[in-house]
Amino acid sequence: RRSELAKLKDQPTASKDGHTVELAANIGSTEDLQKVLDNGAEGVGLFRTEFLYMGRSTFPTEEEQFSVYKHVLEKMDGKPVVIRTLDIGGDKELSYMKLPQESNPFLGLRALRLCLDRQDLFRTQLRALLRASRYGLLKIMFPMIAVLEELEEAKRLLQEEKAKLLQEGHAISDKIEVGMMIEVPAAALAADQFAKEVDFFSIGTNDLIQYTMAADRMNEQVAYLYQPCHPAILRLIHMVIQAAEAEGRWVGMCGEMAGDETAIPLLLGMGLHEFSMSASSILPARALIRDLNKAEWSGRIPQVLAMRSQADITDYVNKFLRSEA
Ligand code: PEP
Ligand code: MG
Repeated sequence: RRSELAKLKDQPTASKDGHTVELAANIGSTEDLQKVLDNGAEGVGLFRTEFLYMGRSTFPTEEEQFSVYKHVLEKMDGKPVVIRTLDIGGDKELSYMKLPQESNPFLGLRALRLCLDRQDLFRTQLRALLRASRYGLLKIMFPMIAVLEELEEAKRLLQEEKAKLLQEGHAISDKIEVGMMIEVPAAALAADQFAKEVDFFSIGTNDLIQYTMAADRMNEQVAYLYQPCHPAILRLIHMVIQAAEAEGRWVGMCGEMAGDETAIPLLLGMGLHEFSMSASSILPARALIRDLNKAEWSGRIPQVLAMRSQADITDYVNKFLRSEA
C-alpha cells in the first residue's frame, strides 16, 4: 500500500470527475520541509511561526526571521507558502515575554490581539516576511481575527512596513497574498464581510471547534465535544466557503479536520480549495480524493447539513466510502 501511495507523489490531486484541489502541508520549522517535499505536498498551507520564538531566551531578530522565511520559500521553489504571523498566547507561552496572568488565556490576549498590542514585535515579523517575499510565492496569514477592525489594523501595519522597506531600497514581491484564519465563530458568521477584505481564508478548525462548542481543546473531560462533523461546524464551514466563493476568493483549511478521512468527502463536496495537513497525511488524502466524485458529494451536502448529529453524518459518509472504495 505504501508503494501504491508513493506513485501518487507527483500526481495532481483531482477527483474522479476531474475537480482539482490543492493538498498542502502544515509545518512548524524548516526541519519539516524534507518530509513535506517527499510526500508530494503542493505547497505549505500553514507555517506556524511561533516555534521560531520558542525554546530560546530572546525574540528572534528581523535578520534571523528573514533567513528562515527565505529558506522555506526557496525550498518550496515557487509553490505557495502560507506563513502565519505569530500566534502566541493561549497554550503557547514565551519565557522571556512577560504577560499579565489571565484566567482564560484562550479567550485572552493571544495571536493577532497580542501583535496589535505589541506592535514593535509585529512590525519586525512583517518586515522579515516582506523582505523574504521575493524568494518564492508568499501568502501572509493573520490568526484569531474576530472583527474587521483587527484585520484593517493588521493590513495597515503591513502597508506601512512595505512602504518603509521600498523607501529603503528593498525588493518586495508584488504577488504576495494577504489572508486570514477563520477560527473565531464571529469571523465565520461575518465571512461575507471579511471576504471583501482579504485574498483568501484558511479555516482553523482546531480553534473554530473549540470556540463554537465552548470546549477547551486541551481538556480531556470535554474532548467528546470535539466534533468536526457536527452539523453546527459543517454549517459554519459551508457558510465560509460560500461567502468566499461569492467574492472570488479561495478557501483552505489548516486544522486537523483537513486530513480527516471522513471529513474530506464533505469538504470536497462543499468546494474547499486547499487542504493543509501533516505531511504524512498527504498521500492517503490524495488517494482518497482521486476515488471520490466531487459532483456527487456536492449533491449530498444539503441533506448532510440537515442531519442532527455527528454520528448520523459520519455513518452516512462511511456508508458511501465503503461502497465506493
Ligand atoms: C487551528 O486553530 O485550527 C489551527 C490550525 O491553528 P493552531 O492549531 O496552531 O491553533
Ligand atoms: Mg488556531
